[in-house]
Amino acid sequence: MIVMKQDATEDEIQAVVDRVEGVGARTHRINGDELTVLGVLGDREHVMRLELEGAAGVDKLVPILKPYKLASSQIRHGEPSVFEIGGRKIGGSNFALIAGPCTVESREQTLGTAHTVAAAGATLFRGGAYKPRTSPYAFHGLGVEGLRLLAEAKAETGMPIVTELMDVRDLEPVLEVADVIQIGARNMQNYTLLTELGRAGRPVLLKRGLSATLEELLNASEYILKEGNEHVLLCERGIRTFETAYRFTLDLTAVPVLKELTHLPVIVDPSHAAGRRDLVQPLSLAAAAVGADGIIVEVHPNPDEAICDGPQQLVADEFAAYAEKVGQAAAVAGKTISTLAAAA
Ligand code: PEP
Ligand code: MN
Repeated sequence: MIVMKQDATEDEIQAVVDRVEGVGARTHRINGDELTVLGVLGDREHVMRLELEGAAGVDKLVPILKPYKLASSQIRHGEPSVFEIGGRKIGGSNFALIAGPCTVESREQTLGTAHTVAAAGATLFRGGAYKPRTSPYAFHGLGVEGLRLLAEAKAETGMPIVTELMDVRDLEPVLEVADVIQIGARNMQNYTLLTELGRAGRPVLLKRGLSATLEELLNASEYILKEGNEHVLLCERGIRTFETAYRFTLDLTAVPVLKELTHLPVIVDPSHAAGRRDLVQPLSLAAAAVGADGIIVEVHPNPDEAICDGPQQLVADEFAAYAEKVGQAAAVAGKTISTLAAAA
């Protein structure tokens, strides 16, 4: 990592980039509020031989010892990343409330839910058109037709869309509608898929694998960052433990620990962790209070009839009251739910 001086000129920064790239290494420029940092990926010996410590505009060279470099908090000097997605800010003091059905099932269900969560001040709209299901015989989503309904929801409500991509062959149609591409827990270590997403450049919500360590999650994010895509949101969605009383164990300790290790925003999914509607609100409040940068939660107009994950989906009619409570808990941690109005 090359830390430039606060008063380094554009020409000085470019000269350093040219010299580093001249020995076959790659640079990732990070423009902080106060100074510019160049992340260097390549042969350490070759770069050290350039003796950049004395070069014009260079303050110091600092090695990053973590296996993940671009994801590390060190590279941004502890400053959190703040992204803007469809005019909504995420990260820092901006809390993202991401809500919508597990699966896009029908026009009425999708548009109805989108209007409800938009009216309650949600930040982004979620909905799966491609669904990873444990059983190969279960419903796997409406596919392209589901994407079309999400596009309609976006056109009607103005809400940016979060939707899952499972197979790189579906990347093109997903890119047409997704403002954020979700990578599900089961695909967290699908490294070829992550690399493609890094190249696609669209923001990614990367869910933690069912039994992945935080270091594995951060290394997975590095696959995306390394390709030049800076916009990765990490998501804690519950992990496998010995406990069987609920679907997964929501690891809320991961939130402050990740925030120490990385500059990337950390989102919590209480729905898939709990698997039970009655647990979703308490876990959401805890997640907001512990300092999460957002929540992704499932909402359905009539969960009893949902094709997928009915028992954990919040009832749409109750979402506004839920959102208000989450907003209060986020305020405890110094954050405000981000909407278009708040960003303006
Ligand atoms: C989902 O968010 O719809 C989902 C399938 O989540 P996960 O990948 O965390 O199981
Ligand atoms: Mn689901």
